[in-house]
Amino acid sequence: MGLFKYPQGLQVSGLHAFPDYREAYYGKAVNMELAYQALQKYFGYTSFLPLQEEIVKDILLKNDVFALMPTGGGKSLCYQLPALLLDGVTIVVSPLIALMKDQVDGLKANGIAAAYINSSLRFDEIQHIKLELLENRISILYVAPERIMLPDFLLFLQRLNISLIAVDEAHCISEWGHDFRPEYRQLKLLKEHFPQAPLIALTATAIPEVQKDIITQLRLTNSKIYKASLNRENLFYQVKPKDNAYHQLLQYLNLKNHKRDPGIIYCYSRKSADDLANKLQKDGFRALPYHAGLGADLRTETQDKFVKDDVEIIVATIAFGMGVDKSNIRFVIHYDLPKNLESYYQETGRAGRDGLRSDCILFFGHGDKRKIEYFIEQKGDETEKRIGYKKLLDMVNFCESRTCRRKILLDYFGEAYHETNCGNCDNCLEPKETIDGTFIAQKVISCVSQVRERFGISYIADVLCGSKSQKIIRNLHDTLTTYGTGKEYAKKQWQAFIRELVQLGYLKSEGDKYPIVKLTPRSRDILSKKERVLLTKPAEEVQIAQKYFDVDFNHGLFEILRSLRKGLADAEDMPPYIIFHDSCLKAMATQFPRSLSDFRKIGGVGESKLEKYGELFVKEIVDYCKEHNVEPKAINVRDYNPTPVKIKTMKTSTLQETLELYKQNLTIEEIAQKRNLAISTIASHMEKLILSDEEISIDKFVDIYRQEHIIRAMSILGSERLAPIKEKLGDDYSYEEIRLVRASEMSNRKIS
Ligand code: ADP
Ligand code: ZN
Repeated sequence: MGLFKYPQGLQVSGLHAFPDYREAYYGKAVNMELAYQALQKYFGYTSFLPLQEEIVKDILLKNDVFALMPTGGGKSLCYQLPALLLDGVTIVVSPLIALMKDQVDGLKANGIAAAYINSSLRFDEIQHIKLELLENRISILYVAPERIMLPDFLLFLQRLNISLIAVDEAHCISEWGHDFRPEYRQLKLLKEHFPQAPLIALTATAIPEVQKDIITQLRLTNSKIYKASLNRENLFYQVKPKDNAYHQLLQYLNLKNHKRDPGIIYCYSRKSADDLANKLQKDGFRALPYHAGLGADLRTETQDKFVKDDVEIIVATIAFGMGVDKSNIRFVIHYDLPKNLESYYQETGRAGRDGLRSDCILFFGHGDKRKIEYFIEQKGDETEKRIGYKKLLDMVNFCESRTCRRKILLDYFGEAYHETNCGNCDNCLEPKETIDGTFIAQKVISCVSQVRERFGISYIADVLCGSKSQKIIRNLHDTLTTYGTGKEYAKKQWQAFIRELVQLGYLKSEGDKYPIVKLTPRSRDILSKKERVLLTKPAEEVQIAQKYFDVDFNHGLFEILRSLRKGLADAEDMPPYIIFHDSCLKAMATQFPRSLSDFRKIGGVGESKLEKYGELFVKEIVDYCKEHNVEPKAINVRDYNPTPVKIKTMKTSTLQETLELYKQNLTIEEIAQKRNLAISTIASHMEKLILSDEEISIDKFVDIYRQEHIIRAMSILGSERLAPIKEKLGDDYSYEEIRLVRASEMSNRKIS
């Protein structure tokens, strides 16, 4: 009968809450029920992420495992969960002291008995942990690679019942990678010393040579190999032409109101990192530099501040990142060109571990390419030079390409990506492929000529699409030969074509408020077939990766919970995300759990955290709801589900009145005048009406062309905060317009 260790500080009823696993697992079929129970109890999750379940199962069957999962893929759980179910202690080899402490703090917060032994502890502290280990009171022990191979320590470990060995960040074993650690090489003896314990090696590295190296070095040739997709769906990839990079950076930071969002900016040199951090400080940002030129103490301090949310922006050279396990990094900006796609993937990969949308922006200019070429030239070895140039070329092609960034990245690492449109990169959201548009242009130009150059874009598109609008019929334009000849494209697409033809000079647009489309001398060249026109290929129904649109969580409550979390974290001297991830707080600020039992339903809330923090958080939520009249609602979704939420509103009499006037075909301004209310009030009525399923067309209030601009801005910036969208669009656009378009989009999405 194995002894199951109950994690410290947890009340477990009955000794057999988790009976000896062997009866359960060594049957013909593996029974995963206990694993599911523990997943919920300790980690607060109800389901596994891809490959986790298979890996856990294999470990419970004592198979060796090699696991390649991208950052944020949930690697730690693959060994932490079996550690709870297996009899004995799990040893985790981990390269960095800072990471160890984080992991152990995180486990303890979940009520799991974990510890680490490394050089940061005093002799007596180490003795104490050793004693606990001998008494079988610890489930998971973290150690550094250099320690585990010390003869004394090995002797000590032999006295323990070791159930599993996990080698985390296993790419450190390979000289091929960036993070090679000579100490890791000794780990090849692990299998010899502990033949009975299954071994799991985990890494996020995308480089095939490194993967092969790990498998040979650790003698994992008979192991099960699991490779999860390297795709990071929640990362938005964008490349911008570099043009006054600092200005572009400020624009981004201000635009997204990023002052409070954590992010990393990568620079090419130490000096530029220092300079940039300085400038940002002067502009009011909490930013610090990080590079190998700073003393070790200062580096640790900076990293600590970042992890604890005391500074938001780190301006770094590539030296930064490996020891950072921060889950809520919202953006990674490459201020200078990375030298290859491996670095790019790894550095951008630090964003969005928590699965929420995060931005990866690269400023690309040819000057940077030359800097890297110069650097490559300095290398003595010809082969190295050749490889350097080849990799740089791949990097530059990535920047200049018009195809999906995600596809290029995954292709590069040998993974096929079959989606035609990822919905979460600049090229997919703003495609720039071209088609032969001569025939299209001919139709448009003929139509403009037939309506005698007296109408705007929207009208011309209507004629081409064969609209039955009163105006067209009144003008007898349904009798034109071009009428209804454009049914192969939707109205919006025709409008896009017409705008492009204007940009290209084949047509012109005159007038400010109600611009009219007119012919130009070049129009004739098209009609006489003298010229061919290339137009942007229409986007295939772009399914914007909706999952990653930020949901409209309650920002007020989120801020309150965030500061509660920060206070608790500081008191315990821990990074805030150990207490709850941002995604978890956002779920609270969406679902408003007002009882402990509802709070328990939030993904990421296990029993230990429920007990420790539940009351504090619930109290804040209850108070907030009282103060702001938030209605109670049933909570049945367990995990944070960031899809747009449709708001059901009561149609009060004032809304009803606005609706009646709308039905009489009045404009917003007219309704406002009639009701003696502000335009913004009426606009907000319209917004509510749209969201509560009223059939309302906003075309009357916002020109289609402007609608498209707004939608495009929302697709890039997310739709949750209006300020950044407004900022991007400029003074010419009003908040009212943006809100109406947003509401209409949300309502459309709900229907489709
Ligand atoms: P990695 O080490 O692969 O980068 P982590 O182990 O840090 O990933 O996990 C990434 C995130 O996913 C963490 O926030 C973790 O809490 C969360 N996570 C892990 N497993 C699950 C699960 N089964 N369900 C939901 N979230 C999970
Ligand atoms: Zn894409």
